[in-house]
Amino acid sequence: MTEEPAPAASRFVLVRCRDCSKEQVVFRRPATTVNCTICGALLATPTGGLGNFRGEVLRALA
Ligand SMILES: [Zn+2]
Repeated sequence: MTEEPAPAASRFVLVRCRDCSKEQVVFRRPATTVNCTICGALLATPTGGLGNFRGEVLRALA
């Protein structure tokens, strides 16, 4: 376990798939593309920083 100071921004966001409305927790800085676990639609793509989210970002998670 690495100890880190409380991040100013959360590391995860709740994203809703535009195709099937499934809500899924996604890392904010994804290293690979993230697909919906239900229908396989693209939810996020890596950019080297914050992900480029294709789904609807509902809220940030702690
Ligand atoms: Zn889906």
